Formats: sequence, structure tokens, C-alpha cells
Amino acid sequence: MDIYDIAVVGGGPAGLSAALYAARARRRTVLLEKAGAGGQIALTSLVENYPGAPDIDGYTLSERMREQAEKSGAEIRYTEVRSIRRDDGDFIVESDEGDLRSRTIIYAAGAQYNRLGVPGEERLIGKGVSYCATCDAAFFRGQDVAVVGGGDAALDEALFVTRYAAKVYLIHRRDAFRAQRVLQERVFAEPKIQIIWDTVVEVIEGEESVERLRLRNVRTDERTTLPVSAIFIFIGQTPNTTLVRDLVPLDAGGHIAVDLMMRTAVPGLFAAGDVRVQSARQAISAAGDGATAAIAADHYLSELAVAVAAAD
Ligand code: NAP
Repeated sequence: MDIYDIAVVGGGPAGLSAALYAARARRRTVLLEKAGAGGQIALTSLVENYPGAPDIDGYTLSERMREQAEKSGAEIRYTEVRSIRRDDGDFIVESDEGDLRSRTIIYAAGAQYNRLGVPGEERLIGKGVSYCATCDAAFFRGQDVAVVGGGDAALDEALFVTRYAAKVYLIHRRDAFRAQRVLQERVFAEPKIQIIWDTVVEVIEGEESVERLRLRNVRTDERTTLPVSAIFIFIGQTPNTTLVRDLVPLDAGGHIAVDLMMRTAVPGLFAAGDVRVQSARQAISAAGDGATAAIAADHYLSELAVAVAAAD
């Protein structure tokens, strides 16, 4: 069975950055990714907030991260991880390609934005349907847009969207927000935001991009049509932590607790990016987490007196 020093699970900015740092520390490094490199950022049309890489599309940024990690000596395998278990102080990672053994794991499997699950949503992702106002709001300068949700994320992002949009309809399924009071007060005071209470989105319509929403008032059953150019959906996020739920404690939202070095409660297991508690949920912060986790894993291996690979 292959034995690695550091196995990185997940190929988004957190995982690719972890692999880069781990390989440069001359640790035998493998990264396992089930789809393509980049994770959520690869789906973003234009990334304007990654320092040093202005006006780059998410796919290109992801490919550059992947190339850099591979050039540094990290091995990347495109395979889906099925399980991770402890064995004699190491970890066994079972994937579609079989088992591998690693002394440490950097778990960076990311998160998924919860979807509304309504017609039109999947088809119009990236064409007006967005799960990231920070990434996409600027494309809708001077236009009317909608935000869905009633938690901190929805209100926070609705306020962000007002920097660009002419009008922001904030659609919530109940008649009260769960978001913190201070955000509610800001939203109520913002003239560009119009709140639509007790309402759900039933269909997202448009030919090439979002043109209108079909809404239903859940109290009166009244159906209406709302013309908008974009819909930003913030109805919660689910971290991809099922694989480690038997290894490490998770919070109520499924996130992994870490210390400032991305160490979890399990020696040798590190977590980075959207899977960890209190993630800022940005590509740049995930990349920072990955670097931190790799440095911590390298220190951990040094304490175990695991020798680094010889220089080429
Ligand atoms: P959240 O707190 O779970 O709120 C999700 C919201 O979406 C709720 O208002 C919920 O409605 C609504 N919702 C859920 N499923 C829906 C559906 N199928 N259709 C329509 N609406 C639906 O999630 P979040 O806002 O993403 O926040 C997640 C965590 O991150 C929280 O701990 C939050 O405090 C934190 N966060 C903090 C900040 C900040 O401090 N500025 C910013 C972002 C996130 P109901 O209320 O009716 O259930």
C-alpha cells in the first residue's frame, strides 16, 4: 500500500494551497479530488478579490493553483474518497482507486451551498443564479436583483449587493428574520432593500440568464411574478464533513473545530477552509488555512521524527 506523509482531501483553494506547502516542505504529498481542481471557485466567472490576480476567471485561477502544486511535487489523484479511518497512528484513505496510508490528513473537502431545488435554478447558475454576492454582485450594477433567506448570510449579503444593484428584493419564507439584530436594523434602514415576507420562490425563469421569478405567498397562496436580473440564494451551507464525522467532533452545523494552526482534536488530522468552524468562506482565507495546516502537519511530522525526502 502507498504510504504518504500528508494526504490532502479536497482540491479547492484550501487543499491546493496545503498540497503546495506540503510538497515544498519535501513531504510525500498526495491530494485526492473527486471532480476538477478549484472546487466552488472554479465555477466563479470572474474573481476580483484574490490579491495579486485581478480579473481572472475562477477556472484559470484554479488551474494555476493545480499546476503550481504539481510542479512543487504534489501528486494529484482524481478519485472520490469513500472513507478515512485510523490505523496504528496513521490514516487509511479508501478511494475509488483503492487504499492509501498517510501519517497525516489535511481535510479540505469544502462545503456546498444549499439549493432551493426549484425549476430553473441549476440551469441558470452563473447566469444570474448565484451563491456568492461577494463574487458576483458587481455584475448587476444598476439592476434589480433578489436575495433569498433570513439568516446572517442573507442579510449580510443583501447589504453588500446594495453597493451595486438599483433595488434588492429580500425574499424570506417567514415574517421574521433569524439574523442578528444589528444586521436586521441595517436592512430595515436601507432604502434600496424591499423585504418580501412569507414568500417562497417557485420558479426561476429566463432564456439565457435570469429574467424573472415566480413567487408564492405562503399565507395567502397568492402567486406573483418579480422581474429581476439575478437571484442570490443564502439558505445555509452544508460542509462536506460526512467522511470525518466518526473521527472528530462536529458542531451543530457539521463544521470541524480547529485551533489557530488548523489542528483538530485528533493528532495528525488537520482541517482547512469551509469545513472548519468560523471560516470566512473566501478563496483567499481557504488558501491561508491550507498553508497553515501544511505547516502544522510538517511540524507534527518533525516531532514524530519522520525524515523529509532528499532534495532532487
Ligand atoms: P442559517 O443561519 O441557517 O439561515 C438560513 C436561512 O435560510 C434561514 O432564514 C432559513 O429560514 C432560510 N432557509 C432555509 N432553507 C430554506 C428554503 N428551502 N427556502 C427558503 N428559505 C430557506 O444560514 P446562514 O445565514 O448561511 O448562516 C450560517 C452560519 O454562518 C450562521 O451561524 C451564521 O451566524 C454565520 N454567518 C454569520 C455572518 C455574520 O456574522 N455577519 C454572516 C454569514 C454567516 P428560517 O429562518 O425560516 O429557518
